[in-house]
Amino acid sequence: KKITIAIDGFSSTGKSTLAKQLAKQLGYVFVDTGAMYRAIAFFSMEHGYITPDFFDKETLINSLPSIRLQFKFNAELGFAEMYLNDENVEKQIRTIEVSNYVSKVAEIPEVRTKLVEQQQQMGKNKGIVMDGRDIGTVVFPDAELKIFMTASAQTRAQRRFDELVQKGDQVTFEEVLKNVEERDYIDTHRSNSPLVIADDAVEIDNSNLNREEQFGLVLDLVNE
Ligand code: C5P
Repeated sequence: KKITIAIDGFSSTGKSTLAKQLAKQLGYVFVDTGAMYRAIAFFSMEHGYITPDFFDKETLINSLPSIRLQFKFNAELGFAEMYLNDENVEKQIRTIEVSNYVSKVAEIPEVRTKLVEQQQQMGKNKGIVMDGRDIGTVVFPDAELKIFMTASAQTRAQRRFDELVQKGDQVTFEEVLKNVEERDYIDTHRSNSPLVIADDAVEIDNSNLNREEQFGLVLDLVNE
């Protein structure tokens, strides 16, 4: 019987990697909700609604109806890519600039309402693995399996830094660590759906677990 799997946790805990691997193994649909928040942050940046100095929330909120987000499966990559108004923005949404803005965009109640509705729509059919911050608490409070991933900020910043450097981004480790800590702070302190662990979630601290160990652990939970 197919189930709904919610994977929440702090940024750069390897949620998406685990969720992707799990979806592949089980033949489930994988949804990275962070990509949706990132696409809206990218849109705000492109339109000049958000800059290092100001954020015109009002205009962004008024523009929300004109923002169309879709996931399209890329068979070559083996996962779905994010499309913003028919444009593939998978690469553009992963930059450090977008990472710096995204939590501010994700704080806006109107943004969350729009995205949560779309996520619930996508999860209407069971057999889904969704990763984010509020999946087990807000999007699918009735999910059969909820995982909450944690790891130390240092460990997470190092992973993120390695990824960005590999892509050729000019960043420093300190910059990445600062971004990770800032996002943690905003995500756990926002008034609207703050990042909290669901009562019935299983917490996995993967500071000292490799990918196979994590995967094995979660697969056991699925089969329980
Ligand atoms: O998962 P990822 O790091 O790509 O998410 C980017 C940001 O989007 C998070 O730091 C958080 O501010 C926001 N987010 C959220 N709720 C989700 C997924 C992401 O607020 N379900």
